Amino acid sequence: MSLLGLDICIIGGGIGGLAAALCLSGRGAQVTLLEQAEALREVGAGLQVSPNGLRVIEALGLATELAARGVQGRAVSLRDFRDGGEVARLDLGLLPEDQRYFFVHRADLIDLLAGEARARGVEVRLGAQVAEVHPGKRPELVMADSSTRTADLVVGADGLHSRLRDALIGAAKPQFTGQVAWRAVIPNVTGQGPEVQVHMGPGRHLVCYPLRDGQVLNIVAAQEREAWAEESWTHRDDPANLRAAFARFGGPVPEMLGAVEEVMLWGLFRHKVAERWVGGNCALLGDAAHPTLPYLAQGANMALEDAWALSACLAGHDETAAGLAAYQQLRMARCQRIVETATGNAWKYHLRPGPLRLAAHTALRLGARLAPVRALRQFDWLYGYDVTRLPEG
Ligand SMILES: Cc1cc2nc3c(=O)[nH]c(=O)nc-3n(C[C@H](O)[C@H](O)[C@H](O)COP(=O)(O)OP(=O)(O)OC[C@H]3O[C@@H](n4cnc5c(N)ncnc54)[C@H](O)[C@@H]3O)c2cc1C
Repeated sequence: MSLLGLDICIIGGGIGGLAAALCLSGRGAQVTLLEQAEALREVGAGLQVSPNGLRVIEALGLATELAARGVQGRAVSLRDFRDGGEVARLDLGLLPEDQRYFFVHRADLIDLLAGEARARGVEVRLGAQVAEVHPGKRPELVMADSSTRTADLVVGADGLHSRLRDALIGAAKPQFTGQVAWRAVIPNVTGQGPEVQVHMGPGRHLVCYPLRDGQVLNIVAAQEREAWAEESWTHRDDPANLRAAFARFGGPVPEMLGAVEEVMLWGLFRHKVAERWVGGNCALLGDAAHPTLPYLAQGANMALEDAWALSACLAGHDETAAGLAAYQQLRMARCQRIVETATGNAWKYHLRPGPLRLAAHTALRLGARLAPVRALRQFDWLYGYDVTRLPEG
């Protein structure tokens, strides 16, 4: 069924909101996107677009553009913190041919999606902050300037601190994980090729990969610690704190950290996946429904899958409510599994020196060397999934 004539308001112009705008308008809906920021600026750093998320980009006809702006990942290299020695290497070239992996700057992906959304007739309103959402037969939005508007359907793609999630299920109570992460973008001082490196040390690890033609490196460095840090993407920190936390790391790490001039720090919080995503002609999507820890690099990929699934489920049902119920049914268990897997990954990188660490590293090394394809096949459920080919309805 076409969504022709359906008047849809999307809250949030992140990757989830913009992808939903493209998917829904592509099926005929009249889409208005409300973003609180005054401009879709250069915010954020690197994102990994894995094969499952890439399928949505491909279905939207944007894969060539993404490939031009991103770097295709060729390997994952797990390294010991002391000297950067390789513990295990997964060759992404062994993935099936239709499973490609890209590293891209968040700002470049936002720019690509926003340009396309505008070109396809989506009304993108900036500086439009939603203060309240009232789900209902015809849901109502109260804007920060007190004006109101209604729509046939409201999509909450408004991220971690979602207004729509609060309206549907009440305020969430996230738990501090005892971990913080820094992120920075630096010149590619080590000449790193198209691979993700994970430098694993006791109680901390550092992930780095190239962006923008390999000219720059994206760094995310996570550390276990007691002190709380804000759950925000825009909290600046002193680079000296990052260098001090990773002072015992060798290999290429000191050179990389020496090049950091500007760094953001964010507290890592565990959230429950929202127990209800839909109601009163409203739907949650992306981080608003299922914020995740970064240890599986799936935040943006899940949001892309959600966007496609929502439009397909709505198009597959005559009644909006039935389409929304099908969307929640299709997405919730998969997102729960992804979020739980990401949460479970942290400890694997952070083992202290000792027998457990030795055993884990030996298993990793042997697994990757003796059965490289099997080592990658463990991700089939994640990367092999194609939301664009599921039967509609
Ligand atoms: C500033 C920023 C930087 C980020 N940087 C990184 C990064 O470097 N690496 C990484 O892996 N992930 C990053 N992320 C997270 C990543 O983009 C998301 O996990 C993933 O893409 C899912 O996106 P989303 O669209 O669901 O949510 P988000 O990306 O959080 O987007 C939500 C959007 O909604 C807008 N919004 C929120 N409340 C309102 C409101 N009341 N009214 C109107 N608009 C509203 C926000 O301004 C934001 O643009 C960042 C997110 C943000 C917001």
